[in-house]
Amino acid sequence: MKEISVKKKQKLYEGKAKIVFETDNEDYYIQEFKDDATALDGKKKGKIKAKGVLNNQISGQLFSYLESYHVPTHFVKHMSDNSMVIKKLDMIPVEVVMRNIATGSLVKRYGVKEGKELEHPILEFYLKDDAKHDPLINEDHILSFEHANEEEIKQIKRFTQKINAVLKSYFIRRNMLLVDFKLEFGRNKLGKISLGDEISPDTCRFWDVVSGEKMDKDRFRQDLGNVEAAYKEVHSRVFN
Ligand code: UDP
Repeated sequence: MKEISVKKKQKLYEGKAKIVFETDNEDYYIQEFKDDATALDGKKKGKIKAKGVLNNQISGQLFSYLESYHVPTHFVKHMSDNSMVIKKLDMIPVEVVMRNIATGSLVKRYGVKEGKELEHPILEFYLKDDAKHDPLINEDHILSFEHANEEEIKQIKRFTQKINAVLKSYFIRRNMLLVDFKLEFGRNKLGKISLGDEISPDTCRFWDVVSGEKMDKDRFRQDLGNVEAAYKEVHSRVFN
């Protein structure tokens, strides 16, 4: 691919953890990662020092790794310490959650035992709608609300299962359990399903294989302390 160079233009959208900017090239955006952290449906707010830089680098590395397994992503290249150039995607307003070990909302909703290794990974869809508190939905909701068609849903599920297999073994080699994670997909210029958003300790749960220590945003959500150190440790293992 030829080297692309873009200039940052006006802010397009600011979310809780990232800002998206337009560029002088209509095919590309710049996504900037913030140190801001929110939890409990936005009720808990704070900052995690250096999170923007760490998540930018972790995400870029994981996107590149997934691309090497033929999973298309929006990642193009890094722009700065805390930002990356991404391909413009037509985002599907659905959060795809994949779970290998029971924790969080799975335990709350279904009463499964915390920490239980799931016999079969569980894939869930949530509607991306803050005002409605991201309700759990199924494939029929997605079809009926016309967020994606049947073939696209199939592709999203295939990619999510592949990403789970690839990342689970990537992290186990780094002594981390990939407990669960959230993905967001969109359509590229050609209408093909591509992975967007980020993959970081903000959107994944990681448990240390040896100590069982949480190494992700749960440290912030649950006031466990050493949040920045945990993100740094994930970063250092990802680049190992
Ligand atoms: N997740 C996320 N954004 C969300 C909701 C969940 O990145 O808005 C991630 C979360 O970090 C975890 C997985 O999705 O890795 C499953 O989260 P869960 O449904 O257990 O939600 P929680 O317990 O955080 O409410």
